[in-house]
Amino acid sequence: MDWNTFARWGARIADWGAAYHQGLRDRPVRAMTRPGAVAAQLPPAPPEAPEAMEVIFADFERIVMPGMTHWQHPRFFAYFPANATPPSMLAEFLATTVAAQCMLWQTSPAATEMETVMMDWLRQSVGLPEDFKGVIQDSASSATLAAVLVMRERALAWAGNLAGLTGQPRLRVYASGEVHTSIDRAIWISGIGAENLVRIPTEGPRRGISIAALEAAIAADRVAGYLPCGIIGCTGGTGIGACDDIAAVVRVAQAEGLYTHVDAAWAGAAMICPEFRGLWLGVDGADSVVLNPHKWLGVQFDCAAHFLRDPASLVQTLAIRPEYLKTHGADGIINYSEWSIPLGRRFRALKLWFVLRHYGLEGLRARIRNHVRWSQALAARLAADPRFEIVTEPVLSLFTFRLKGADDAAQQDFINRINDDGRIYLTQTRVDGALVIRFQAGQFDATEADIAMAFDVLSELAGTP
Ligand SMILES: *Cc1c(COP(=O)(O)O)cnc(C)c1O
Repeated sequence: MDWNTFARWGARIADWGAAYHQGLRDRPVRAMTRPGAVAAQLPPAPPEAPEAMEVIFADFERIVMPGMTHWQHPRFFAYFPANATPPSMLAEFLATTVAAQCMLWQTSPAATEMETVMMDWLRQSVGLPEDFKGVIQDSASSATLAAVLVMRERALAWAGNLAGLTGQPRLRVYASGEVHTSIDRAIWISGIGAENLVRIPTEGPRRGISIAALEAAIAADRVAGYLPCGIIGCTGGTGIGACDDIAAVVRVAQAEGLYTHVDAAWAGAAMICPEFRGLWLGVDGADSVVLNPHKWLGVQFDCAAHFLRDPASLVQTLAIRPEYLKTHGADGIINYSEWSIPLGRRFRALKLWFVLRHYGLEGLRARIRNHVRWSQALAARLAADPRFEIVTEPVLSLFTFRLKGADDAAQQDFINRINDDGRIYLTQTRVDGALVIRFQAGQFDATEADIAMAFDVLSELAGTP
């Protein structure tokens, strides 16, 4: 493709994108595709001869689009938000056009220095203290894996990478049952092993980790000869938005010499609003914190902000040239590939720069506050309706509810009918073993009317009592 043709297609796809977004409300939120239906339309072998872009694009519309679930749909209330705002998309187009590998300062100084400054903007925005330094990871899962590797290496005096885990004391990591599955995977991949992820019971309305049980588990493990190495706290767990008492977790960790990682992948974005910071009170004492601008801050996937109080221990764990530590921070040069697991890195800070400038913190806060207010209003309407009951109260914009007096099969049937209807999209989770319906609002184009429509759909499909 020559560059003039590229320019024409770029303009055409931008037009297509605008029309797509303007027409999103008329599409069913979730793909209505049968398994295998898309693959069946793709030739089993690649073409030998070149094909025209016109034909490729027509096939994109014909084969691909019907098989897409519309995460940008204003009535996407499932899982978590994944906003790709227009300025973020434009920045991504630029980043992908320049297509630099930003692993070292010298492989693109602008990308590295922009990342340092954007992470500091974000640090200030969410109220973390100045001694936190940030890096953009591809996902919260990667940030958590990196943090768990630091826990491991710190506890083993940096012998794990060198000698492996054979013959080492058995490490223990502590978390509640409300943490995300990325924590399980980090424990597997780090070689610590699922049996050494100690699940601590939760307590209280926010289902936070029981501090007494945490202390007892650590003490019992020490007596049994295990080596406790870290605690993973959560602010806004994925299922129901569970929040640990981070201040208490940090107190325990400091008393025990353990490393703390706080997973605030979803809820962390809301900390740009000072009134929500009570949810992670004490976070300034944590060692590592992750939040995903790619969920609720209008920045397209991938962009996971990972803040560290002592980046040197991360670099010591992941840098492949330990002698580089000597200059770390001293000459102002950062090689971010030494802060993350993959070597290659995209220029992710650019979209953060575009989005933060385009909306300003006030614009971003206004959206998050609306989502929280509208979804709490929906929860109140459902609570007042005899057909429904709220199971877990809203944490920010996330709550769970169910059909009153119905068993799991009836809840699942109700969820299926909601999602087959297409006007809204919701998912389920389990609370105390029972199936419940999960609601979260966070799409940037969502309006109060979109959230109100969720009530209409639920009410209509629930039928008369
Ligand atoms: C979404 C989420 C994750 C996973 O985020 P990725 O960036 O997709 O890895 C982890 N923890 C919590 C609490 C989440 O909400």
